[in-house]
Amino acid sequence: MNKNITQHELLKNFKVDGFCNDLINWFIQEQRDLPWRKDQDPYKVWVSEIMLQQTKVDTVIPYFNSFIEQFPNIESLANANEDRVLKAWEGLGYYSRARNLQSAVREVHERYEGIVPNNVEEISSLKGVGPYTTGAILSIAYGVPEPAVDGNVMRVLSRVLLIREDIAKPKTRKLFEAVIRDLISKDNPSFFNQGLMELGAIVCTPTSPSCMLCPVQEHCRAFQEGVQRELPVKTKKKATKQVSLVAGIFLDENNNYLIRKRPSEGLLANLWEFPNFSKVEELGTPKQQLQSFMKTEYGLEVEMHEYLCDIRHVFSHLVWDINVYVGKFKGQSINRNDVVVVSEEELKEFAFPVSHQNMWKKYKKEE
Ligand code: SF4
Repeated sequence: MNKNITQHELLKNFKVDGFCNDLINWFIQEQRDLPWRKDQDPYKVWVSEIMLQQTKVDTVIPYFNSFIEQFPNIESLANANEDRVLKAWEGLGYYSRARNLQSAVREVHERYEGIVPNNVEEISSLKGVGPYTTGAILSIAYGVPEPAVDGNVMRVLSRVLLIREDIAKPKTRKLFEAVIRDLISKDNPSFFNQGLMELGAIVCTPTSPSCMLCPVQEHCRAFQEGVQRELPVKTKKKATKQVSLVAGIFLDENNNYLIRKRPSEGLLANLWEFPNFSKVEELGTPKQQLQSFMKTEYGLEVEMHEYLCDIRHVFSHLVWDINVYVGKFKGQSINRNDVVVVSEEELKEFAFPVSHQNMWKKYKKEE
């Protein structure tokens, strides 16, 4: 394909109005009943769009409902303690989304009197609000014809318009944005964008698009040529990195548990976890390494019990393989402000990454 293909060439002889009508009418009739579609409150649209990044709709629904119950508006989220927000996000992953959302909401609270901005310039300057979220909030909450391009939308349009550009490249996203600026319904940009997203989610799916049920089939060039499964073109990501960890669930004589807070920057920042470290094969068995880690790191003589389980957690770029052990320590003050010793009841108030929640579940089952 010509490298410098433009949106004008792509839309030549394309029935823009017919496509928009078919898409929007289908969306009106077939859209799923989702909690964030009950009203157009920009705050709720914003929360839902952030939660839906990298996460399936079914997973998001209960999180969204409980998050909105706890933080029903800008003010309540702006004033909330970060630990409570992370707790509400616990298990949803990509925790920087929650931290960025809260700091952006605080900015809206302080700078814009609690009203989510309704223009590209202001809204896209908020933390964690990229071009996709900008377009989604502006079109859904305010009816502004702004593109909202994510992987789903690129898949659908690459098929409809037979676009063979590599969707992993940033400049391809720009091309899709330009196409949508010409294509988007100026009467109903909200349903146009939501219709594209919905079509990608339930009809034009990655491996087995349901073309026979598709409302825009007559407009779809990939379908006409029988190449829908070859699109979109996407170069493969780099191999994921594998990390071997050893972790310990340690309790004292009063059945209190030792947990620590992760650093405030980087992966899973500010979440809580059981003590753990990267295993070094040459330094002995995992059990021995854990014992000396607790001594050097926290000054604790621990009594090791049994091996508990292995936990594997797969991130988008990284895999953790964790050997988990249980042990005891003698209660004493630990001079570190990233460590607390808490009862089982108190432990429930802290937000843990999924891998550590799974360790805990396994531990409770075996207890
Ligand atoms: S006809 Fe098939 S490939 Fe084309 S948009 Fe519809 S589901 Fe996707």
